[in-house]
This record gives sequence, C-alpha cells and structure tokens, in this order.
Amino acid sequence: MTETRAERMRWPDITAYLEHDDRAIIAIGAVEQHGSHCAMGTDTMIADAVARAAAERTGVVVYPPIWFGWSDMHMGFEGTVSLRPSTMQAILTDFVESLTRAGFRRFLFLNGNRRVNLPPMQIAATELTNAGGRIVAVADVAYLAYDQVATLRRSPPGGIGHAGEIETSVMCHIHPDCVWLENAVSAPTHAATPQRVFMSSDPAFDGGDRFLLPRTAEQFRASTKETGVSGDPTFANAETGVAVFTEMVDGLVKVLDILRETPLPPAPVSRANQG
Ligand SMILES: [Zn+2]
Repeated sequence: MTETRAERMRWPDITAYLEHDDRAIIAIGAVEQHGSHCAMGTDTMIADAVARAAAERTGVVVYPPIWFGWSDMHMGFEGTVSLRPSTMQAILTDFVESLTRAGFRRFLFLNGNRRVNLPPMQIAATELTNAGGRIVAVADVAYLAYDQVATLRRSPPGGIGHAGEIETSVMCHIHPDCVWLENAVSAPTHAATPQRVFMSSDPAFDGGDRFLLPRTAEQFRASTKETGVSGDPTFANAETGVAVFTEMVDGLVKVLDILRETPLPPAPVSRANQG
C-alpha cells in the first residue's frame, strides 16, 4: 500500500505525489478535559484516526495533526491547553503557505474539537482561498456523520455532547486504552433541563437562545456538576463507535472527492506582472 502519512514519506515521495494529486489533509483537535472517563487528547485522536483512514482509502497525503485548539471553555479543569484563535489562524496559514510552495493546491482542514475550533478555521480557510490559486475546505468530525448519528445513537436527546455518547463510543473503538468507562457519568445537556444553546438548529431544544451569552470557564465547570461532561457517556460502546467512525470516514472520503473536482480559483496576479 502506498504511504500517505507525510511524516513517514521523503521529499521525493512528495514530488512524485504532486505529479498526480494536489490534495493534503490537515487535522486539528484539542488537548482538553473530557471528563473522568476519556483522555484529554480525545478530539485530536479522533480527527487524526478519521483523517488517516480516509487517506488510506483515497491515497491523499495526510500531515501529522495539530494537537491543540481553542479550549477556553475547559480552562477550569486542570491540564487543558488552549491556543488563542489568532494563534490557530497563524499556524494553519503557515501550514498551507508551506505546502503551497511545494505545489499542493487543494487542502482539507479537519476539525476534531466539535464546532468550537470552527470560527478560526473558517477564517483562515477563507482568507487562504481568497488569496487565489488554491482552495481550502473545512470539515468537522461531528458533522461528517451527523445524519447517521440520529439513528446510531442509543442515548435519549441530550446524550450527545462534549465527552458524551458518540465521542466516547468512537474512542472505545479507536483508543480503548484511553477510555475508563467505569468513570462515565450521565450528564445530559439541553434536553433534560432547558439550557442556553447558542443557535441550535434543532427546534426540539426549546429554550435555546438566539443570541450568544458566553460563560466563564468556572461557570461551565459548575454547569457540568464538576464532571466536565455534557452528554451521556454511559450509553457508549465500541459497536456504536465502529459504526460512527465508519460513517465519519465515508463522509470525509466524499468531501475529498468533491475537493478533487472543485475548480481552483484563478491564481493571484504576481507583483512582477503589476509593473
Ligand atoms: Zn471532544
């Protein structure tokens, strides 16, 4: 099988790859608390595993993941590391500029820190695409299998969230050594007790706000009853995990296919041509 992991390739391998493909996957996650039952690297581990599995199926080059993300909400729990959004944008920009110089033109940012990392990722992707000559797509593991999760889930509404049923199930599949199910606690979110949900697209979650009212890290910690969990990981199991993981990989393969067929925007006008 052809090697697709950049850290295991040599530069001539990249040269040869660029003769027939110009796509690269860059995953970004988080090192943040995931309750007392999942390791802090959960988000990056999931994004990286999905990225590498999709790379093996498509032959697309995948770079080592960016381990850290924007995790301000979780700073009330020991051990979490949070990058400023501007730092994330700078890292992603430098990543893409480096690979553009090599000849890559189509990029896929894969987020593992469900929803939270998206704003800086979207801004970086849009700015990099607007510069011309390349395209930067953004995908999120939470949405790659969003429709399928509706039927694969076992928990009642409110069970899927931070360190909840789905994230924990996927970890049971890919990294069972980083899950301590005996410590899992049920801490369902908005469905159980109407709670502020900024722009949830599900009208079933009545009581959600239509505006953003940020909470401090300490308020978030208290809202989880000191568990760090927003969801119900007691429903987690490896069978659900393998099913969801498979859907995530299928979803990413589809995105990579679309990316391959998407025309590149015109290349930027070089300064030399501007007179
Ligand atoms: Zn997570």
